[in-house]
Amino acid sequence: MTHARRASALDTISAYRERPLGHFIDGQSVDGGGTPFDVFEPATGDVLGQTRDASEAELNAAVAAAKAAFPAWAATPGSKRKAILHKVADLIVERAEEIAAVECLDAGQCWRFMSKAAIRGAENFRFFADRAPDAANGQALPSADHLNYTTRSPIGPVAVITPWNTPFMLSTWKIAPALAAGCTVVHKPAEWSPYSARLLVEIAHEAGLPAGVFNAVNGLGETTGKRLTEHPDIKAVAFVGESKTGSAIMTQGAATLKRVHFELGGKNPVIVFDDADLDKAVDAAVFMIYSLNGQRCTSSSRLLVQTTIYDSFVAKVAERVKKLKVGDPFDPASEVGPLIHQRHYDKVASYMAVAKDGGATIAAGGARFEGAGDGYFFQPTLFTGANQGMRIAQEEIFGPVLTAIPFEDEADAIAKANDVQYGLAAYLWTNDLGRGLRVANAVEAGMVWVNSENVRHLPTPFGGVKASGIGRDGGDWSFDFYMETKNVALAYGTHSTPRLGL
Ligand code: NAD
Repeated sequence: MTHARRASALDTISAYRERPLGHFIDGQSVDGGGTPFDVFEPATGDVLGQTRDASEAELNAAVAAAKAAFPAWAATPGSKRKAILHKVADLIVERAEEIAAVECLDAGQCWRFMSKAAIRGAENFRFFADRAPDAANGQALPSADHLNYTTRSPIGPVAVITPWNTPFMLSTWKIAPALAAGCTVVHKPAEWSPYSARLLVEIAHEAGLPAGVFNAVNGLGETTGKRLTEHPDIKAVAFVGESKTGSAIMTQGAATLKRVHFELGGKNPVIVFDDADLDKAVDAAVFMIYSLNGQRCTSSSRLLVQTTIYDSFVAKVAERVKKLKVGDPFDPASEVGPLIHQRHYDKVASYMAVAKDGGATIAAGGARFEGAGDGYFFQPTLFTGANQGMRIAQEEIFGPVLTAIPFEDEADAIAKANDVQYGLAAYLWTNDLGRGLRVANAVEAGMVWVNSENVRHLPTPFGGVKASGIGRDGGDWSFDFYMETKNVALAYGTHSTPRLGL
């Protein structure tokens, strides 16, 4: 079973392993030029294949294709866009197992999570497909002398730049609303996990998307990504990745006044008060940091626990952490797989010395996980005895690493929760309704879950404050980003226009 899925994933991408994976421009696969570079399999550390850093000419061709396709796609009736995007969703569902297996192979994510993530990709397409026919509708805002109404129109060709943690699902989240709005897209997936992006663009064309509407270029951030964000014909950049990359993209796009939407890093607190349902809180805290190999923007990477229950609660978490099943991502029993790349492994591992030097205790894990192969496996790790002043409490580690910190009371919990540069998500555990409401109000985060882990509901806004992002995804918020709003004022003929120069 395990090996059968890996073999099928290798089979799925076999065509792109015989030669470096190129780009998909104007409805066609473009092998072309550009410097090839290796893609590694996280579970084995072996070279899986190669992809190419797009040449400047290839990048320009992708943007030109998106520009040329824009007028017709923007003018395509919403009902037709809806039908095509539903077809994309149907094909994703048909190939969900295949897509999930490629994500396991390429991104090292565990089967138990990826099988659902591919289906979520299809749901993203369906959700925005259903809204395509009404995307242009605005508001009626009548005044005494004018009827004002607003309309929305797609902004133009947009860039979508995505990271490697859950590559397929995250790409659909951005690309589906852009296409539903009537924008054309140039997608640049992460260089460490390029394969599922190729499946998506091929599926979209099989579903009937016209050539040039959705293009995908591979390449490095500092070359291909940079050129894309600087290109004058790209009207907006939807970016998911690190905060410092978001800052670079803002600078790169400044000269051409790019609209930007950033979903960036996090150092999200899970705050556990002593009156909470502690068994459920343990489940949620463990799930939110150790699922997806800890490579999750909304992971609960800081565990803030009230002093009255700190020792017993943290002991329960430590017990669970030691029992997590680390192993082959294709094994349905595996709960934690390998990190994405040797460079990321080195970064995560470097925090063990940072923790010790800062005075924290490694209560679980702390070293390479042996016995799962030669890939980038790291033991699920728990730091205790930490405080907010330590780097392990401030910096995004983006691995299966949790930092536990005690707090005294509500005010202390809020102060500690907010004492980081980030503000993506926060999780609160309390059975005191008033306290839940007060803390939810006070915590600096774009999303707060009370007595829950991250359960995504597509109509709700997704995004962060502070260094965690700019803008929101989901529901109509996505259309606000991908569309321009126009106000039209029609006079009733009742007002008098000032007369000058008589
Ligand atoms: P990254 O910022 O290094 O790379 C993301 C993408 O940006 C890649 O495709 C990369 O090639 C590209 N890129 C890099 N430099 C660029 C540049 N100068 N110009 C244009 N493009 C450039 O991020 P990563 O390491 O791939 O992903 C992990 C990060 O993503 C974490 O910080 C995580 O929190 C964040 N993330 C955030 C969310 C969210 O919704 N807030 C979701 C997932 C991941």
